[in-house]
Amino acid sequence: MAAVLPADGREIIRQNEIRPYLAHERGAGSPCLKCGPKCEGLDLHFWRKICKICHCKYEDHDVKNEEEIHHNIVQNIFRKDRGLPESVSKLTGDLKQEPDIGEDVKANFIQVPQVSSTAAMAKYLSSIPKGKAAHHDEAGAQYRAKQLANQLPAHDFDEAFCDDLTDAEKEKLQEFSDLRAEEAAGQGEIVEKTAKIATDWLCDHCNESLYNGDVAIFADRVGKEKCWHPQCFVCDTCKEVLVDLIYFFKDGGIFCGRHYGELTRVRCAACDELIFSKEYTQAEDKSWHLKHFCCYNCDAELGGQKYVAREEKPYCLKCYEGLFAKVCEACKDKIPADGKRISYKDAHWHAVEACFSCVTCKRNMLGEQFIYKDNQVFCSPQCAKKR
Ligand code: ZN
Ligand code: ZN
Ligand code: ZN
Repeated sequence: MAAVLPADGREIIRQNEIRPYLAHERGAGSPCLKCGPKCEGLDLHFWRKICKICHCKYEDHDVKNEEEIHHNIVQNIFRKDRGLPESVSKLTGDLKQEPDIGEDVKANFIQVPQVSSTAAMAKYLSSIPKGKAAHHDEAGAQYRAKQLANQLPAHDFDEAFCDDLTDAEKEKLQEFSDLRAEEAAGQGEIVEKTAKIATDWLCDHCNESLYNGDVAIFADRVGKEKCWHPQCFVCDTCKEVLVDLIYFFKDGGIFCGRHYGELTRVRCAACDELIFSKEYTQAEDKSWHLKHFCCYNCDAELGGQKYVAREEKPYCLKCYEGLFAKVCEACKDKIPADGKRISYKDAHWHAVEACFSCVTCKRNMLGEQFIYKDNQVFCSPQCAKKR
């Protein structure tokens, strides 16, 4: 490796070439926590952020390098030291010298929050329910990793995790990130209520009092008059406990990173990224990048094409027919996705006279009252009896 770097920005360009490759390889081979051995291990569909094998979300997999990815993200959130008071770095130093809680703290925070005492930190950590704290057990560590990925989506913070942004989109994402760091991002502070504190503390979420010896979370951006129980420090939208006490403040509310982003931007239903392009598609009550309104099965673009939605996912007609098309009870051929169909209970017919007619006497039953027996259509009890 060259020891002296040219001052013309070449080094930066080289980095940009490397990072998207890493983002594509993200979590490769991680087992699926939902599917178990049925999934051979995460094979990321880069822009959909789902596994190509099992179709579960990225964060449904037991991804081990999430901590590393989010270390960079959290640094990026607080990069200008605007979100955190100066005293934090000092306290972090103190805490690292405390061997009795050091490992617990390291397991649960990428960035150690401000805390009134080491005792308060210990109380805070024991207040996190089992299965949700990384220092408790494996399930807790998995829960935390999933919350990191879900509440602080990598693609909301770093263009390397986005699908091929234009220069204009990159610029918008940067503006959005700057504003978020400047006006919204913060990390809760852990404070123990002691006898010396004369004011009443009321949790802003559940309205219950906090008593001497309780720990509360305070948020700089919100102001000193509000505090929360640790388990009540939740996103106003998704009601999940804010991972690593990282919150985003807007219009009097606190949000996780994902839902803060959605207050001012729409999210693409296909790639999960915030949309920074001027134009986008609205379909099926959702928003989509133009290039991402694609068949869920073959990725063919569907803009201006006929498509069929199934379980909120669009499919091109060809894939839909191949995967889900109904078979006509009469002629046993597939009914095209855009073809006229008659359905009754679990049975389907082409809506043509040749198919939807009395099985016995062949009378046309389109628009008529019919008798249904054993997936067959009859015009009268007499015809039904003959079968
Ligand atoms: Zn949320
Ligand atoms: Zn998209
Ligand atoms: Zn038919």
